[in-house]
Amino acid sequence: MAALIVIGTFFFMEFMAWFMHKYVMHGFMWYFHEDHHVPEPGFFEKNDVFFLIFAIPSSLLFIFGSLNGIDFRFFIGMGIAIYGVCYFLVHDVLIHRRFKWFDKTNNVYFRAIRKAHKVHHKHRGKEEGECFGMLVVPWKYFRAAMDYDRKRTKPAG
Ligand SMILES: [Zn+2]
Ligand SMILES: [Zn+2]
Ligand SMILES: [Zn+2]
Repeated sequence: MAALIVIGTFFFMEFMAWFMHKYVMHGFMWYFHEDHHVPEPGFFEKNDVFFLIFAIPSSLLFIFGSLNGIDFRFFIGMGIAIYGVCYFLVHDVLIHRRFKWFDKTNNVYFRAIRKAHKVHHKHRGKEEGECFGMLVVPWKYFRAAMDYDRKRTKPAG
């Protein structure tokens, strides 16, 4: 049961991340997200405040879920925390290369994710936009990444 709650929360968080990005970060909290689309010098972005915002429910669930033994709230908190780590590794490290940890990867899924998010970043403004999700990639970007591989590995002639 614990594993189910963690996994369920993880996938729900992908929906939450998409929803927050589309309607909150590109909405009334655009002030904090703007410097992610129009970069300013310096390592930190105002956009990083969203990690803190997601850390609050996660920490509270850890605390209240472990007061009288461990209950389901603890595992929801865990799902949120694991999603946060994955989001950071994929969005901040893999895509935006704030750390050069995965520069050599050539995985199809990772290339599709990167392409989809680059499309999100083609828009620099608050209003229009696409590809607000992160780990769930629209199929066309998958196909493009796979086609690229096929063309590259096809023998000449
Ligand atoms: Zn955005
Ligand atoms: Zn980004
Ligand atoms: Zn973004």
